[in-house]
Amino acid sequence: MRLVLLGPPGAGKGTHAKILSEKFKVSHLATGDILRKHIREQSEIGSRAKDIIERGGLVPDELVNEMMAGEVERAGVSKGFILDGYPRTLGQAEALNRFLKSHNAELDAVLNFATSERVIIDRLSGRRICPECGANYHIRNIPPKKEGSCDRCQAKIVQRKDDQPDTIRHRLATYEKETYPLIAYYREKNLLQDVHGDWDVPELQTELKELFAQIGL
Ligand code: ADP
Repeated sequence: MRLVLLGPPGAGKGTHAKILSEKFKVSHLATGDILRKHIREQSEIGSRAKDIIERGGLVPDELVNEMMAGEVERAGVSKGFILDGYPRTLGQAEALNRFLKSHNAELDAVLNFATSERVIIDRLSGRRICPECGANYHIRNIPPKKEGSCDRCQAKIVQRKDDQPDTIRHRLATYEKETYPLIAYYREKNLLQDVHGDWDVPELQTELKELFAQIGL
């Protein structure tokens, strides 16, 4: 299975990618998580990405392309993967295309998580993450077992700097400008499948199950 999950911030890509990757035993490659790990580890990539991410902008294509090519190669192109948050620009989509061609591989589908602004703002403003292990929570929808601390490593969970209202607005504008055109790009290639990003997790998982049965995944 080789999937791309497309959709605005807060569409639920990460949540569903995690469930699908466990179910289908393929790697879940989340660009944002990988970049935040680089920042935690103070790597060269992390130092180039930190300020851009905190302001809600996009990290330059060439950096992300190289990083993700390495990640996909490590995961194994033939073993399959779910890309969550990559590609996000037409330049990245073209780079991914070239990369897959050079490995004689193709995408199976691109899931487009169509999500309304009201739901996006609610999800992002309630989102909390663990600064130690990167686990994701939502104060109402996915609360940790013990209020305020991570289930996995007990660290105090925090709001991401880029989940503040002004930065959220900036990220949404960036999505509209840079990422939205990918919908037409992948529709043209007959890869696009629209799904209901607004739906709650169990309902959307059911929709995905039916969709995969239809397209033979
Ligand atoms: P969300 O999907 O909620 O915006 P992510 O964790 O996927 O959150 O991404 C967080 C930030 O990481 C983005 O706002 C951007 O700065 C950076 N980022 C993630 N993926 C990419 C990408 N493909 N290209 C450029 N920057 C990216």
